[in-house]
Amino acid sequence: MRRAAGILVAVAVLVSALPVLGYLKLGSRASTGTVNLKWDDFPIRYFVTNRGVPGVTAQQLQAAVVRAFNTWNGVDTAQTSSQFAGFTQAPPFDDDDMTVLGFLDRPELDRVLGATTFLIDVRTGEIVESDIFFNATFPWSTSSAGQAGSFDLESIALHEIGHLHGLGHSALGETEMRTGGRRVLGAEAVMFPIAFAAGNVADRTLKADDLAGISDIYPTAAFQRDTGSISGRVTKNGTGVLGAHVVAFNPRTGKLVGGFTLSPDGSFVIAGLDPGPHVLRAEPLDDGDLESFFDATFSVDLNFSAKFHDKLAIVPRGGGTRDIEIKVSPK
Ligand SMILES: [Zn+2]
Repeated sequence: MRRAAGILVAVAVLVSALPVLGYLKLGSRASTGTVNLKWDDFPIRYFVTNRGVPGVTAQQLQAAVVRAFNTWNGVDTAQTSSQFAGFTQAPPFDDDDMTVLGFLDRPELDRVLGATTFLIDVRTGEIVESDIFFNATFPWSTSSAGQAGSFDLESIALHEIGHLHGLGHSALGETEMRTGGRRVLGAEAVMFPIAFAAGNVADRTLKADDLAGISDIYPTAAFQRDTGSISGRVTKNGTGVLGAHVVAFNPRTGKLVGGFTLSPDGSFVIAGLDPGPHVLRAEPLDDGDLESFFDATFSVDLNFSAKFHDKLAIVPRGGGTRDIEIKVSPK
């Protein structure tokens, strides 16, 4: 799901309307207890609804969707492929055994630019069908340089197609609260849940966190051989912290990759890292709305201060550095 910035929303309503998103958020990057959502059959065959909106024809929609798929397919450490199967009269969000991307009129979802749904095999996590809708209520553009006042369709498509592949949200972004809601100051991931303002085209380009995420789900042999992971726990007074955001920073490359503690013992895994030293930081999830990351049954701990780990974590090539313990303190 991608939200327009600057506005508050009754997210609980949105989450319950799109229940699979909660599972995706936990399932896509969890290390234990859940299956990962992923495609098993490639290429992913998708249809585009034969419908335009003011400013964007159906052909321009299709071309932007193809570019966004190609951006994910072009990640050289991941193995994915896709194929445009044709235009269709079918709208997205029908369970019709077709993966469909297109515009829908959803004026009641007045903060949602787009969203992704799934039909999955619940035993294996295999994605059987995934639909994406773009909310025709908003002004859209496919202009190569962006257009003031209109949201960039390719940028939002790139985010939603990340979900379509099984990626959850990234917390690598900074926001500020203003009257009426959050404004995005910067994001180090296309998978950050809140969009840049209308006219901005920065989200046509994947960031290190996005590349690590897609490569973690669909790794090439070279990726598995050449990258490593960091795992450990975040604790407070000796007890695990649930829902902590853990960020690994590589000072040599400048890359930032994030993850979460997803079980009550506070354990986390961050994969897809270049070998070498990393700076680790644990922080509460306070730059996005919790509902964008976890469903309501997940009791996230926000009561601790951000903390740098006191040692560098050295990532080995093709392996993992384990048993890191980041000790945080209550606020
Ligand atoms: Zn999203």
